[in-house]
Amino acid sequence: SNVKSDTEAVDIIAETEDINAKVNITGSDKLSYGDNTILITVTSASGNSTKEYKITVKRPTVEQEAAQSTAPPVVDDGQKYVAITFDDGPSKYTNKLLDILDKHSVKATFYIVGERISYYPDALKRAADSGHAFGNHSWDHSNLSKLTDEQKHANLQQTSDKLFEVCGKRPTTIRPPGGNWDRNVKVFDGCNVVYWSVDPEDWKYRNTETVVNNIMSQVGNKSIILLHDLYETSVDAADIVIGKLKE
Ligand code: ZN
Repeated sequence: SNVKSDTEAVDIIAETEDINAKVNITGSDKLSYGDNTILITVTSASGNSTKEYKITVKRPTVEQEAAQSTAPPVVDDGQKYVAITFDDGPSKYTNKLLDILDKHSVKATFYIVGERISYYPDALKRAADSGHAFGNHSWDHSNLSKLTDEQKHANLQQTSDKLFEVCGKRPTTIRPPGGNWDRNVKVFDGCNVVYWSVDPEDWKYRNTETVVNNIMSQVGNKSIILLHDLYETSVDAADIVIGKLKE
């Protein structure tokens, strides 16, 4: 499920005419850094003949992924950095998250969904006044890769204008919903397109402990962590993770 546009499709033609052959696929659909192995075993119905196909799916190392990021380069002053980003908001938990970020003296980036802005203007004003960064996560969380450039521009501009109207700031980067975007286009309307390198799948687990563990097992220097301030479990996880990362 995590193998997306950066990976070429692979065809495997098993040399058997046995329509009852069993196909067994072993390996995780969640890519770790570096090489990942997927083993495909084809066994004839009689069990007499077996063929094995081994596929290596390469994911860049933490350092390589950071180097590929289109985000502005971090000054190499020997310090360690992690970016923490929250998609899909604002929500009723954004204020709680802002309390947590204040407590830790941490600035985050909020990838805003435009149509939600008018429901939580106060949280957005507070985020702007506190110096957090805003990114554009489309007006309606649509699949931007299915839109024309003109439609993409209109969709993103609507969010930018609404945010400016509410809190006087515009998003300075774009994160396409679902990462659906032509990866060759790194800048659009003057904004860098920014993805992520650590995905704890908080929207799926909705469990603070699991989300914390998922982040801590993937995180490294210059990681970009993806969370969603739609869920209180994710906001609570951010509190714990920031404490651990500061240690
Ligand atoms: Zn999203």
